[in-house]
Amino acid sequence: MSAASPAERPARGLRARLATLAALWRRWRLWAVLGLVVAGLLGVLIWLARNHEIDEVQRALDRESNGAALALRQGLARRQQDLHGLATTQTRVDAWAPAALALLDRHRDWLRLEWRDASLHLLAAADSPYYPPFVTDDTGPQSQQAQRIRETCANAQRFDGAAYSDSHFVQRPGGVGEEVMQLCQPIGAGTRRGGFLLVTYSLGGMLEAMLAPTYTQRQSVAFTELDGTRLAIQGTVRRPGRLFTSQQVLDLPGTTLMLRLDGGRQAPDTLPNVMTALVTGLSIALITVLLLLARDFRRRQQAEAELAEALAFRKAMENSLVTGLRARDLHGRITYVNPAFCDMVGFAPQELIGHALPAPYWPPEHAQEYGERQAVRLSGTAPPREGLESLFMRKDGTRFPVLIIEAPLIGAAGKQTGWMGAVLDLTAQRRAEEHSRASQDRLAASARLATVGEMASLMSHELNQPLAAISSYASGSLNLLDGEAAPTGTMADVRVALARIAEQAGRAGKVINSVHDLVRRRASQRHAVAPAALLDAVLPLVQLQARKLGVRVQLDCPSTLPAVWCEPTVIEQVLLNLARNAMQAMADSAAPRLLRLTVHAEPQPRGARAVLRFAVADSGSGISEEVARQLFTPFFTTKAEGMGLGLSLCRTGIEQHGGTLEHAPALPRGTVFSFGLTVADGTRHAPPAAPAETPALHAPAAASGAAR
Ligand code: ADP
Repeated sequence: MSAASPAERPARGLRARLATLAALWRRWRLWAVLGLVVAGLLGVLIWLARNHEIDEVQRALDRESNGAALALRQGLARRQQDLHGLATTQTRVDAWAPAALALLDRHRDWLRLEWRDASLHLLAAADSPYYPPFVTDDTGPQSQQAQRIRETCANAQRFDGAAYSDSHFVQRPGGVGEEVMQLCQPIGAGTRRGGFLLVTYSLGGMLEAMLAPTYTQRQSVAFTELDGTRLAIQGTVRRPGRLFTSQQVLDLPGTTLMLRLDGGRQAPDTLPNVMTALVTGLSIALITVLLLLARDFRRRQQAEAELAEALAFRKAMENSLVTGLRARDLHGRITYVNPAFCDMVGFAPQELIGHALPAPYWPPEHAQEYGERQAVRLSGTAPPREGLESLFMRKDGTRFPVLIIEAPLIGAAGKQTGWMGAVLDLTAQRRAEEHSRASQDRLAASARLATVGEMASLMSHELNQPLAAISSYASGSLNLLDGEAAPTGTMADVRVALARIAEQAGRAGKVINSVHDLVRRRASQRHAVAPAALLDAVLPLVQLQARKLGVRVQLDCPSTLPAVWCEPTVIEQVLLNLARNAMQAMADSAAPRLLRLTVHAEPQPRGARAVLRFAVADSGSGISEEVARQLFTPFFTTKAEGMGLGLSLCRTGIEQHGGTLEHAPALPRGTVFSFGLTVADGTRHAPPAAPAETPALHAPAAASGAAR
């Protein structure tokens, strides 16, 4: 791969960052959408709650302004009635003034009360004691004031009732002024008397006198122009927060007044009322739950990722295994197989999974036996955890040996849900064993041939004796038969000589046979063999060498010993090798040369199978530490003509029988090699395979002295 150029690097970094962001988005998008929805919902809720509260405040203010307008109308109506009363009761000018003053005292919103005749000439007038008199120079008949009065009273005449003028400003001494409005009430409408009552209202006074104090405590009440200019005001808005306004049109005959109420909110904006507080509280709870959920979700995702990793690891492990894995449920149905198992039996996973008994890889000829075995296992008897050798069949019909190790499959709830089996294909192992066995056999044969070669010289020497005896008996017999006058009893002597010849020939034959036996031996089956028979089989050959080397052979094999379960060829070969080594070790020794072949029962723990220990002891040179280290190494030898294979073959042979070949120094000198063989099971006892012609060797000791 080529290195990225400097220009490409930032682009790659950006791409990687974008990919990370995209992955993050994919993972969290649902949460983001949920968060947005919840935030939107909460926003709408808070907005609605706030609006509701604003509406409430507005409605309350509207109610107040309605009430205020009503109170003003009623006040004005009451005052009109009072005027009517004054007009009808006081018809004389001198009596009119005190009555007018009394009314002015009662109505503090009245500034002045006038009585004018039908031509609007002033007949009488009274001023309110509560207000300083106005300052006006606008008094002429053409003045604005006179004009306004004329218009208002003309309106009153037209309505045949009270009429109001537009509001206007009047000056008072000291610079302060006042917005006022006039009311013209015709007196005795339709009567001869005629004339008008004219009242000057103070707009500020109206608000003060006609409205209850509750109206002006919480909000300001004002008369305004249509454009919003304030004409008179009562009360103040206490809270300067949010301002609410409610307006009412006060329609009076001849004029229109605008009543305006300004009010502030009762509570601060953040927690306006219980409903908003409740919604806010719920929102906080909802957001907390959301956060907790998100944390839980994150933890779950983490656990999921860990689980996925563990699963991937397990899968990779199973796929890389050469051991076949197979799981079955409690009814024997296959629930899982790994690739190695499928390769082994040649079936695809889908052909195996869910398959009930008999399994497709069972050879039909064994199906019944396997089925019975399964029935025992499924019945609840605990399966052997150790391996069980069996034979499976591939899809193509070929059989192959397997080793099955099965264990109960325990589910997450701690209950057994089936069986998990590990299956090992033994084909290769069997082939290797076969191969090793064949090599072992070839090696053993070579070793035997080497022994034979060695023995050839011994044999020629051994055969000399019987042959010489045969030859002298034969010439003696001939001499007897050739004599002219055969003495009496010649025939009897010849018979004796012939018998001797036959005996010596038999002896020579035995020597040859024992060598022939050794060479001819092949691997044989294991069976029960008497220990004495094993010793008897090798004794002639041992003695051949013993005689040559001047070794005394001593046997110790009680006849009461039970048979051992072994392959006699192998054990005989071992005994012969050990005996030969022992005698060779004594070859240069000046001390008495004694070879002891012993067999005795070895003490075993209770319940264990009895073992017989075979020992071959010499009084030779012994084994140095250096030699001991390499003793069983193939081709290690200290002898000029040795092959160095004897002990290594012996050890393999003994190990194949489940034993070990041991060696220890013998007392007072020399070495003892020993090994144990298990006693044969009584039921499978077979007659010892001892060669018929070998003389039986029995305890206490069938000792054979040195030859010659
Ligand atoms: P080889 O007999 O052909 O040398 P072995 O494997 O039988 O091969 O023996 C290996 C070596 O072990 C011998 O060369 C000898 O040095 C030593 N050895 C075996 N048996 C004895 C014994 N009984 N006493 C002393 N040395 C022994």
